[in-house]
Amino acid sequence: MIKAVKFGGSSLADASQFKKVAGIIKSDPDRKYVVPSAPGKRFQGDTKVTDLLYKCYGEAKVNNDFTETLSLIKSRYDEIIKELGIEMSLDEEFARIKEKLQTEENSDYAASRGEYLNGLVLAEYLGFEFLDSARVIKFDKNGAFLDEETNEALQKALSQMENAVLPGFYGSMPDGSIKTFSRGGSDITGSILARALHADVYENWTDVSGFMAADPRIVEGAKSIDIITYKELRELSYMGASVLHESAIFPVRKEGIPVNIRNTNDPEAEGTLIVESTLHVPEHTLTGIAGKKGFAAVSIDKDMMNSEIGFGRKVLEVFEKNGLSFEHMPSGIDTMTVIVSMEDFISKEHQVIAQLHQAVAPDSIDLEANLSLIAVVGRGMKNGVGIACKVFQALADSGISIKMLDQGSSELSIIVGVEDKHFEDAIKAIYKAFFN
Ligand code: ASP
Repeated sequence: MIKAVKFGGSSLADASQFKKVAGIIKSDPDRKYVVPSAPGKRFQGDTKVTDLLYKCYGEAKVNNDFTETLSLIKSRYDEIIKELGIEMSLDEEFARIKEKLQTEENSDYAASRGEYLNGLVLAEYLGFEFLDSARVIKFDKNGAFLDEETNEALQKALSQMENAVLPGFYGSMPDGSIKTFSRGGSDITGSILARALHADVYENWTDVSGFMAADPRIVEGAKSIDIITYKELRELSYMGASVLHESAIFPVRKEGIPVNIRNTNDPEAEGTLIVESTLHVPEHTLTGIAGKKGFAAVSIDKDMMNSEIGFGRKVLEVFEKNGLSFEHMPSGIDTMTVIVSMEDFISKEHQVIAQLHQAVAPDSIDLEANLSLIAVVGRGMKNGVGIACKVFQALADSGISIKMLDQGSSELSIIVGVEDKHFEDAIKAIYKAFFN
């Protein structure tokens, strides 16, 4: 078996966390290829090393003195090295970083150093080889990730290595300059590594025991999910559930490699397994519930709209021209509603309304603010009966009115729109109806 393992920032925040990580790696000989994040928060209110690095870059950019911030970063690594009792010094590395920071054009180089340095320390501590991601993770000159080139370069490098530590979050462009993924991007590096290794599993170690069926800040004691499919995860992540970076699924998906979310602070817990598909019958009809606040509904009314060919296209063209992406589009006989992000829409509302009048001459346009969308997701819904009814009943019993409704033909999710003020209560009510 080959396991690609990735450890998040909180799993590598200080020496005691490093020891747990080493314990996990050494307890299983299949765990030979490791992706580390940069040291994260050690306690509430602490600052991630990546954020300190962005700060350094900001200070260097306006010619302010960044030595204090940089020495703060250095002291975090020095402390880890000292407490782990390893013989190594990062003095030269920091001297180089200091010099480069003065000339760097963008923040990616600075931001990437958190993972780079943590990779050096972890490799030394484990006695593993270090593989600089700048050598093997490739971006084109516009910063787009090159998956096939990367896979090839990485496979070639790994074929010479018995074990390796590959820092997360960054790679390089054709001119050699450093390029990072978006924040949280070490998850993507782990997935790329798993693909290149044809790994049996991609273990993503973090500080929670898997993916929860609902946000635990809303539903206290929310259950963790044993098995979830890539598609279900995508629906839930899109709706705001965050454990894994949105794009991390794509490399492993190419090879059908399962992702196992595990907890560094509770290594016995099995966590959540994310798979392509499964025959495993879920314990509950729903896999999870997630949602987002802050949407607006734009309702366009016109008598006989249903017989006017091209009406929908003309309406959507107005949104497109204004750079507004739409989330859902429920429609009636003489009305069509477009749901958009309120934040994006509000600054353009007058021009959009005027352009809609020009485009389709509606009888009226109505706006409704402060809507939340809640996705009720589960592969188990497909063959079930009365699930929508149960969702509606739960909301009705809590006195919550449904503002919008959408069920895709895949029957993987039902989306309900409620007022923002009912967001939390709606999630609690649906959770209670299905999981308790
Ligand atoms: N250290 C980076 C961040 O804070 C990348 C990561 O942790 O995945 O976003």
